Amino acid sequence: MSKPADCVIGMGANLGARLQSMRQGAAQIASFCEVSAVSALYETFPVGPSQPLFLNAALRIQCEGDPEVLLSRLLAIERSLGRIRAQPWGPRTLDLDILWILDTSHRSSSLVVPHPQLTERCFAILPLLDVAPTAVDPATGTAYASLVSRLDCSGVSRVDGPSWAAL
Ligand code: AMP
Repeated sequence: MSKPADCVIGMGANLGARLQSMRQGAAQIASFCEVSAVSALYETFPVGPSQPLFLNAALRIQCEGDPEVLLSRLLAIERSLGRIRAQPWGPRTLDLDILWILDTSHRSSSLVVPHPQLTERCFAILPLLDVAPTAVDPATGTAYASLVSRLDCSGVSRVDGPSWAAL
């Protein structure tokens, strides 16, 4: 039997009971994967249209099955928490992204891993580094930790430690 994939999932919420959505999303992910690390909780100024502040975090998980199956499970969790896609970059009750999978590059019409915007978004790369501090880009071998200093992360504040998830 093959080993479970070692993955980092990015989470974001900026509508309704944000922390509750984040916790419920984390609990649903933990129901089918092993969660090996939880990042700190961050509050983040939104990118795109004017909208409420986001909470962001990341989970490191060990999960069976291929990346497309994982994505479909994450999309089902988003739907179960009432996500409506009204506009691109718009507000959402819960957004789940596959940020990175160890030693894996994946590109299909529905899924690109590592996440294409990972290295441009402080709200994604800072939580990722909490749970995978030595992670590297699978194609180039570049350490993500070496890329953060060129970003302006002033819009991202740490608001709680990993206990936020209450797993
Ligand atoms: P959004 O929720 O607006 O970030 O976009 C979600 C859509 O992006 C999903 O339905 C996926 O088909 C697509 N997508 C492409 N790459 C990824 C990824 N690495 N993680 C999550 N969704 C992805």
